[in-house]
Amino acid sequence: MLSLRNYDIKFVKGIGPQRAELLTSELGIRTAYDLLRHYPTAYIDRSKIHSIRSLHGAGEEMPSVQVRGRFVSFNTLGEGARMRLVGLFTDGTATLECVWFKGIRFIRQRLRTGNEYIVFGKPTMFNHTLQMSHPDVDTPESVGAAQGAHGVYPLTERLRQRNLNSKVLHSAIRLFLDSRAHIAETLPQSVIESEGLMDLDSAIRNIHIPRTPELLAKARARLKFEELFYIQTDTLMRARRRKGETAGYIMPHIGRWFNDFYSQCLPFELTGAQKRVMKEIRADLLGGRQMNRLVQGDVGSGKTMVALMAMLLAVDNGYQACLMAPTEILATQHFETISSLTARIGLNVRLLTGSTKAKDRRLIAEQLEDGSLHILIGTHALIEDKVVFHRLGFAVIDEQHRFGVAQRAKLWAKSEVPPHILVMTATPIPRTLAMTVYGDLDVSVIDELPPGRKPVETVLRYEEQRTAVLRGAAEQIRLGHQVYIVCPLIDENDKLELKSLAEGYEQICQTFKDVRVAFVHGRMKPAEKDYQMNLFASGEAKILVATTVIEVGVNVPNATTMIIENAERFGLSQLHQLRGRVGRGADRSFCVLMSKHQISKDTRKRLEVMTSTTDGFIIAEADMEMRGPGDIEGTMQSGLPFDLKIANLASDGLIIARARAAAERLLDDDPDLTKPANRQFATALAQAAKRNADWSMIS
Ligand code: ADP
Ligand code: MG
Repeated sequence: MLSLRNYDIKFVKGIGPQRAELLTSELGIRTAYDLLRHYPTAYIDRSKIHSIRSLHGAGEEMPSVQVRGRFVSFNTLGEGARMRLVGLFTDGTATLECVWFKGIRFIRQRLRTGNEYIVFGKPTMFNHTLQMSHPDVDTPESVGAAQGAHGVYPLTERLRQRNLNSKVLHSAIRLFLDSRAHIAETLPQSVIESEGLMDLDSAIRNIHIPRTPELLAKARARLKFEELFYIQTDTLMRARRRKGETAGYIMPHIGRWFNDFYSQCLPFELTGAQKRVMKEIRADLLGGRQMNRLVQGDVGSGKTMVALMAMLLAVDNGYQACLMAPTEILATQHFETISSLTARIGLNVRLLTGSTKAKDRRLIAEQLEDGSLHILIGTHALIEDKVVFHRLGFAVIDEQHRFGVAQRAKLWAKSEVPPHILVMTATPIPRTLAMTVYGDLDVSVIDELPPGRKPVETVLRYEEQRTAVLRGAAEQIRLGHQVYIVCPLIDENDKLELKSLAEGYEQICQTFKDVRVAFVHGRMKPAEKDYQMNLFASGEAKILVATTVIEVGVNVPNATTMIIENAERFGLSQLHQLRGRVGRGADRSFCVLMSKHQISKDTRKRLEVMTSTTDGFIIAEADMEMRGPGDIEGTMQSGLPFDLKIANLASDGLIIARARAAAERLLDDDPDLTKPANRQFATALAQAAKRNADWSMIS
């Protein structure tokens, strides 16, 4: 497999320089290796042609199929972003509407009425009409050339427009595989044998050109195992090295800062879970090893307080601490919470973000260096090289899933002895997932909410109930409370979506003439965003219309109502995060999920999970089961040191556990992978990693 990494795809037969360039820019495929690792997501049997009549009544489960016939007409309907091309297609048994939203001009030029085509796609029923959106259309001659099961490859619209479709990829890959004698194994032979895995050569051949369903299943199993085994070996190696070698600061004292805070500032009794986690952290601080601990706790479980008290311990021992948040809004909010909580004891807390003024930056730099700054709170700005601490002993990272392992490593490098690291996440994740994503962290769980919290009352509502929903919101405002209205933006850069968001905002302003309405979205300048957020946080604005930029961490206890527009577009974990913004005070609070009527069974189930429970762990499990859109793994996978092309963190729990056990055995026998039998694997592992070598050494 190694030489394949040097084999430029422009030399692959059937690809050539122009297509090579497209594949690189659209899919990141540069070499033959990348090409062979671009796996099909489905397979079709090109020998079977369905009659259109037999497809009528097709449900959601209907797989992609092909039909053969002619286009009767083409019509362009709608305008602007709603513009679509509808081709009426018939095979004599019934008709089918082929719909394209993109590449209309190109398709119009290429396809003719009256000619015979084979149309391949996923049939759906829409308003009693059978439709296929963006089907693959080929002439019978070009389809006939290839036999047997074909891979359907993940592609982009741009590739399709340039005629670079699944068929082209499939035949190029087939030709290439035919020309190669053998693809060298990457996994250690011992693992292949103990796990009964298919060898790499057969796996690659069968994933692209499956000979039988059984062989395809074995190929998939092997390739999934391989990906997960890379991750497990990598994280285990790092974790073992850290535990064995990385010394950490010892912080034995509980001194004036902690004690004064505890006796003078703590506004409530800690929950049992908070106390337990504090004990776990304290034990780490005494152990002489660098702490790398994940604190997992549902939204509102009080993670910030735990983080603050842990930072105070560091300060008591003569160290500085920092807290890094994923967004400017969150960093600011942490800063405000923490500085007001500690105001009475005179702790020196400062905020550093991208928009901190030069003068303040200079002051922060000075105080960081002379050691008088105790706690620095900020965004990514904290990990810039020019930020130099006198003695950084403790670093907190809030909402970890937005940061990668790489950023954590950068923090570690900020001090000669790496600081203790506390990662806080509100995303409850099942154990097998935690093993992968946080494989090198110890885990603490805050599994108890502060007393007196009332569960957020959650309901599902439809468009025709909007007036009543808004009336409910008005009532809450009259009672002195505040209201969030969240609108999903699929793409924060899409001008049209932004426009409809702005219109939604205007409408709300019209409906609620007497109150101030704040408005935030991801495309705003940070200063404007902050201004708008502050309007809401200070209580001046009663309503906040926002995109999901408010998803994490915003804390406005007076807000009692959350209205989520197009709730059907959100995944469960995202809905849970959003809902966590209300129910933070003592008052009854509400979450209204607005949805369109026509939703799939799965979507309805998802929304019903939300209306039936507020328990984050139950929701996470349901999420894993349903694997709806926008689910946990998407955000998780982006933080991994390896790409997952075929394995799925949510559904491949069993393989994860097996890969973990196999990695343990391998490393028990050969901790640094230096034995000759493992050398090829060690090289493959290093090459597969996304990260570059220098920070892999830090941990
Ligand atoms: P999260 O875990 O979501 O980050 P926060 O730390 O923001 O939660 O805490 C949510 C709210 O609960 C805050 O207003 C905080 O002051 C409050 N809180 C935290 N711990 C307790 C406690 N033990 N008793 C009562 N309220 C608490
Ligand atoms: Mg928080």
